[in-house]
Amino acid sequence: MSTVKRIGILTSGGDAPGMNAAIRAVTRGAISNGMSVKGIYRGYKGLITGEIEDFRTQHVSNIIQRGGTVLKTARCDEFKTPEGRRQAYDRLVEQGIDALVVIGGDGTLTGARIFAQEFNYPVVGLPGTIDNDLFGTDVTIGYDTALNTILECVDKIRDTASSHDRLFFIEVMGRDAGFLALNGAIASGAEAAIIPEISMETDQLAEMIDKGLRKTKNSSIVLVAESEITGGAMGVAERVKKEYPQFDVRVSILGHLQRGGAPSAQDRILATRMGIAAIEALLDDQRNVMTGIQNEEIVYVPFAKAIKNDKPINRELLKVLRISSI
Ligand code: ADP
Repeated sequence: MSTVKRIGILTSGGDAPGMNAAIRAVTRGAISNGMSVKGIYRGYKGLITGEIEDFRTQHVSNIIQRGGTVLKTARCDEFKTPEGRRQAYDRLVEQGIDALVVIGGDGTLTGARIFAQEFNYPVVGLPGTIDNDLFGTDVTIGYDTALNTILECVDKIRDTASSHDRLFFIEVMGRDAGFLALNGAIASGAEAAIIPEISMETDQLAEMIDKGLRKTKNSSIVLVAESEITGGAMGVAERVKKEYPQFDVRVSILGHLQRGGAPSAQDRILATRMGIAAIEALLDDQRNVMTGIQNEEIVYVPFAKAIKNDKPINRELLKVLRISSI
C-alpha cells in the first residue's frame, strides 16, 4: 500500500492544450483516494521559490475546456544544477509533499528523472507536448488539438494558394519530430511533408518536384517540420528559389498559434485518463514512470525509455501521403 499522503503537481516546459484537463484529473484522482494536493506554479521554478498553494477540487473546476495551464509554466535553469534540485527537494520536504506529478515534454521528464534518482523521490510524469515526440506513448497530450489547429490554418491558406497558383511552404512545430507535419499533410490534403526523420535518406523536395507537381495542379501546399535538419520552411523556400525559379513560392510559419486553443475531445479524454492513471501508479508504489497510451490502453513507461529513444515515424504514413497526393 502506498505511503503517499500529499502530492505536488506542476506543469513545465512548453504549454500544450489539455494540460488543464490533466491537472484537474490528477487533483481529483488524488483527492478521491484520500490524498491532499499542492499546486506548484511555474514548473520547477515555482518549486524552488515556493510558489505553492493548497489545491482542492474547486480549484480545478471549469478548466477542462481551457488551453494553456492554470498552474503556469516556465523554464528553469537552476533545476539543471544539483544546488537547484537540492533547493527543490528541501521545499518538498518543508511542504510535506511525498510525491510529485509533473506534466511536460522531454526536458521536463529528463529533469524529473534526474531528480527522482538523486533523492530517491517518487515522481510520475504525464506527456504534455504538442510535438508527440515521447517514446512509449502513441500520442501525447496536446498533439491532437495542435493537429486540428494546423488543419484549420492550412485550409485557409489553401484558398490563397489556389487563387494565385502558388507553391506554399507551411512550417509547423515539432522540435525535430515530423508527426505534426506528416499527419497534418495527410489530413489537410497537402502535396508533401518535409520531415527530419527522413531528411538524411531522401531529398524530399527533389522527390516532390520530380513527381511532377505542376502537371496536375496549379497550386501546392507542403508542410515543413521546424528543425535544423529540414532547414524549416524558409530554408526550403530559399532552395526552391535557387534551384526551381519557375515556382511562385510563399512561406507561412504557423508558430505559437499551434500551442493554443481549447483542447479537442481526444486530448481532454487522454489527459483525464492519464491523470487518473498517474495517481494509480503512485498508489501502486510506482515511481520514475511516465503514463502512456498504447493501442488505447494505459501503460507506464520508465522515464529512461520515454526520453532516450527516438520515437519512429510510421512509414506507412509516408506511403499514404505519397499515394493520396498524386
Ligand atoms: P519541455 O518539457 O517542453 O521539453 P524544456 O526542454 O524547456 O521543455 O524543459 C523544461 C524544464 O525542464 C527546463 O527548464 C528545466 O527546468 C528542466 N530540465 C530540462 N532538461 C533538464 C536536465 N537535463 N536536467 C534537469 N532539468 C532539466
